[in-house]
Amino acid sequence: MSDIGFEIDARLKKLVEEMKKKGLRVTIQRLAIASTVFEKIKGHPSFMDVLEEVRKRTPGVSTSTVYNTLQLMEKLGFITSFSYRGETHYDQPHPHVNVVCMDTGKIIDLPEDRDVLQLLEKKGVKVKTVVVYGYCEASGPG
Ligand SMILES: [Zn+2]
Repeated sequence: MSDIGFEIDARLKKLVEEMKKKGLRVTIQRLAIASTVFEKIKGHPSFMDVLEEVRKRTPGVSTSTVYNTLQLMEKLGFITSFSYRGETHYDQPHPHVNVVCMDTGKIIDLPEDRDVLQLLEKKGVKVKTVVVYGYCEASGPG
C-alpha cells in the first residue's frame, strides 16, 4: 500500500474511535462511505460524486444514509463542505483558500496562502472555509 492508503486508515481509525466514544453505531455502510470520502476529499467531491462512488463499491446504500453519514462526519470535524452551483462539495477540514474556476468548474486549493486567513482571523472571523471565484489558467479568455 502507498502512503495515501496508510493515511486513510489513520483517519478512519480516528473516526471509528470518535463514533464509539459518542455511542454511535459503526456500520459497514458508514465505513464504506467514510473511506470513500477520505480517498476522494482532495478532489473536492460533490455529494453526487460520493454517492456514485459509494454505490459502485457498496450497492444498495440509500441516499439518506450517505447524506447522514457525511453530515455526521462534518459535525465531528473530519470534513467540511461548501456549496457551489447548487451542489454541496466536501473538503478537508483545515481552513484554506479554495479557488473555483467559473469556466472549467475546477476547484484548486491554495494551502500555502495564509494571508487571507490571517486577515479574516484578525477581523475575528472563525474561518470554516474560503471560496474564491475566478478563472483558472486552463480556461479561455473570459
Ligand atoms: Zn479545498
